[in-house]
Amino acid sequence: MLKDYLIKNNYSDLLEILKAPDVSRHYSIYVNVAKLYVDDLEMVEKITKRPKKFLPLCDQSAIAAQKVIMNDDEIPQEELRLKRKVHIRITGAPWKINDETDGQLVSITGITVRISQPTMLTKCKRYSCKKCSYVTTYQVICLYF
Ligand SMILES: [Zn+2]
Repeated sequence: MLKDYLIKNNYSDLLEILKAPDVSRHYSIYVNVAKLYVDDLEMVEKITKRPKKFLPLCDQSAIAAQKVIMNDDEIPQEELRLKRKVHIRITGAPWKINDETDGQLVSITGITVRISQPTMLTKCKRYSCKKCSYVTTYQVICLYF
C-alpha cells in the first residue's frame, strides 16, 4: 500500500531500522499527511477516513519495504535484520472534529494542564459469588476515551 512511497521518501529511516540490532523493539516511521497528499491523494483519503482498516496495512507496507531493501544487492546484507514491529505514525491529520468524523483520523491540539498516571480501561468485569462461586461476567460499554 505505502511500500513504494516509503522506499522513495523514507529510505534512510528504513535502512536505519534494518541496521538496528534489536529485533524485538518497536520502531516508528513518521509520514506527514500533507506530503503524502501531494504523492497520493487517494491514499490520504483511505487512511484518514478508515484508519482502523488502513493503518495496519501501512504497517505491513513497512515490512514489505524492508524486504525490498534487503533484496538490494548493493547493500551489505549481513548487517540488516528485518523488523516486524514497525509502525507508521501519521502526522498532520485534518483538524476537524464533528459527528461526521466519528471513526476517522483527526488531529487535535491543546495545552496539557494536568498529567496523571495512566489508568486501566475496564472492558469486562467478572464477579464471583462467595457462596457458590458462580461467575457473572459484565461487558463494560465504554462511553469516553
Ligand atoms: Zn451464588
